[in-house]
Amino acid sequence: MSSGQPGAHKLAGPRARAGGRRRGRLPATLRLGRSGVHGWGVFARDFIPEGERVIEYVGERITKAEAERRDAARLARLAAGGDGCVYVFETRTRHDIDGGVTWNPARRINHSCAPNCEAEEDDHGRIWIVARRDLAPGEELTYDYGFSLEEWRGHPCRCGAPECVGYIVARGQRWRVRRVLAAAARP
Ligand SMILES: [Zn+2]
Repeated sequence: MSSGQPGAHKLAGPRARAGGRRRGRLPATLRLGRSGVHGWGVFARDFIPEGERVIEYVGERITKAEAERRDAARLARLAAGGDGCVYVFETRTRHDIDGGVTWNPARRINHSCAPNCEAEEDDHGRIWIVARRDLAPGEELTYDYGFSLEEWRGHPCRCGAPECVGYIVARGQRWRVRRVLAAAARP
């Protein structure tokens, strides 16, 4: 995601900040449903105007060092054919956010190569999912996960957008994946 500054920091301890915990309940404007993209998804219940902070991406606040440790463990799981889901958001502050917790319903929001929402960090290192355009009732929310190029093969994308590259990769890196795929398709 956005590049944070690595470095050693004092441990705040897991779940140091209790604020913002809502036991995994979605805001009234949203509902959970079977996704057209993948598994479960999050849908607009009502009209949501462009620019609205739809939901906060909450989670465990962890140090950059702990985030790196968890990412290495995750990549090892992925390499072994297991679950390689990414839930850690890098922030510009001292802590990153591991959203892979039951009390973060925003983790259910799927990636799309043509997303209708985006993830934004505020001045306090909190992550918000913000509507990029007006959302109609019943629309599934999506944002660009912004994955790095290193592990694109482990994350196929089924978003169905015309510009979908077939893998979950940050927008600015998709041309590289297209080039690799085109080269592989040549006889
Ligand atoms: Zn896609």
